[in-house]
Amino acid sequence: MNRYICLTFIIFFILSAVGLKAENPSSINNNFPLVTFVFDDGYETDFTVARDIFKSQGEVACTAIVTGWVNTRNFLNISQISELQKDGWEILSHTVSHPKLKALTEDRVEAELSQSKSTLESWGFNVKNLVYTYNGNNAAVKNIVRKYYRSGRNGHKMLNSSDLDQYDLKSYSNELSTWHKMTTLKSQIDLAYSEKKWLIFQHHRIDAKVKISDKSGAFIFEERLSFQPSGAVGQYIKDRWSVVQFIPLSGNPQVGDTVTGRSSGASGKLERVIYNEGAALTEMIEYIHKNYPDMRIVTIDKGLDLMGMP
Ligand SMILES: [Zn+2]
Repeated sequence: MNRYICLTFIIFFILSAVGLKAENPSSINNNFPLVTFVFDDGYETDFTVARDIFKSQGEVACTAIVTGWVNTRNFLNISQISELQKDGWEILSHTVSHPKLKALTEDRVEAELSQSKSTLESWGFNVKNLVYTYNGNNAAVKNIVRKYYRSGRNGHKMLNSSDLDQYDLKSYSNELSTWHKMTTLKSQIDLAYSEKKWLIFQHHRIDAKVKISDKSGAFIFEERLSFQPSGAVGQYIKDRWSVVQFIPLSGNPQVGDTVTGRSSGASGKLERVIYNEGAALTEMIEYIHKNYPDMRIVTIDKGLDLMGMP
């Protein structure tokens, strides 16, 4: 009889242990494949380009703000950051003046990290997480970060797994260039999904490059570019050797379009799209939605929650 009572206890014990395990959030959520999009430095393109892209896909991203650059040329202003926060974007701290943290005295590191957070909070933003400048840290910097932030994001071109160090989150660049292609970015998404890991993308200013021919006239810095017949609109940055660089404000410029500067009247014929980071962001999100509907796109703070981090 004793043996049966003992067995009952053992079975009861096992069942309760299984029950407890199932209720523990960290053990449920450790293996979710996750993707996060972070835009470093707080460029205005977070608002003028990325905001609509994420909104139209029903997703959110993160903007990492250098408080000393807010309200200056090419960077976000406070009301634009407010709109992003209202949309569900996470506002991250990226220091006050963007110094190399490792090169500073501990007092200066403390000032950069505490003041950027308190300034953002005084503007009405909820700030919990940090992005390291120049993807650099060391043990002394991390110790100070721990006092003010839940996490710090670094570079390292790696995925984050359940044994992550939250003060050393890994990230990949998702910026395009002549050598960094869409296929590379998609394969990172594939890998994060198959390995059930957390992929954090980092980006700076969003731009595009096209090759044109038959150029006439000279474009004016920051003028609007019209692409017809596609209807796309851009903001001119510069051109060199028939390659025009611009901010892709809306639409997708197509081969065969006529590119016209709205102020200068300068024009050319679009021969080739070298890259378009606006279109690429849309393509990445659609790729995830289509191929991996259970792969969630989250903010850093939500990602930490799902990974069971304190
Ligand atoms: Zn930066």
